[in-house]
Amino acid sequence: MSKEAVLLELRHVGKYFGGLRAVDDINIKVESGDLHCLLGPNGAGKSTIFKMIMGIYKPTNGSVFFNQRNVTHLKSWDRVKLGISIKMQTPGVFGELTVYENMKIAVQHFTRHAEVKSEVSRLLELLMIRDLKDELVDNLSHGQQQWLEIGMALACKPKLLLLDEPAAGMGPEETDRTAELIRQLNQQGITILFIDHDMAFVKKLARNTTVLHLGRKFAEGTVEEIETNQQVVDIYLGK
Ligand code: ADP
Ligand code: MG
Repeated sequence: MSKEAVLLELRHVGKYFGGLRAVDDINIKVESGDLHCLLGPNGAGKSTIFKMIMGIYKPTNGSVFFNQRNVTHLKSWDRVKLGISIKMQTPGVFGELTVYENMKIAVQHFTRHAEVKSEVSRLLELLMIRDLKDELVDNLSHGQQQWLEIGMALACKPKLLLLDEPAAGMGPEETDRTAELIRQLNQQGITILFIDHDMAFVKKLARNTTVLHLGRKFAEGTVEEIETNQQVVDIYLGK
């Protein structure tokens, strides 16, 4: 991997909450253009890592580099401006506003006034929810709400998109559509780092993976390497 090809790098990153080591001495490199999965059982530290990449949490140790630049001390908003965006694990949509209004809130920060409407339409089309633009978000299915959130995360035209459990709680059909959407975004040139703990979904989608367990890096490699790693299989079965 050439140095130029690395878009995101975590160097010896740790996060302690009081005495709890949620994340411990993590090194991760994500290549530009990658579709990379952070996987591991519940409580492994995955969401905490995302929050440190986004600048929501400050690492206790280590550094975060984006595009060769040390961003460890930058605020979230400045990271957004550099091209990092996130869909969090917890919902971030406004249920009592319409789909259009939600998307407009996200888009208007990054798009000239005259172009807001067409940019919202473009994103709703991409997200397969254009017909629902006047619907209250509370009336959307769980999957549709997730897609809206992904759309809102795209409003800043990110280079790196962080998706925390994008298919959690979805049925098979919505899961497949989510996988297709993520693949499409990646093909459009967005580097994607996503979190999931469902091996079947990961297999469908990811190129490279990093496996976390109890806050530490447990394994890394291609999906094929990970799925045939007996130790990885064992932590999933709780051994
Ligand atoms: P994952 O996303 O892999 O399920 P998290 O990153 O959410 O795991 O959590 C990792 C560990 O850190 C867990 O033990 C969790 O309880 C703890 N943790 C996460 N956020 C906080 C917080 N804000 N304060 C205290 N403990 C936290
Ligand atoms: Mg999590």
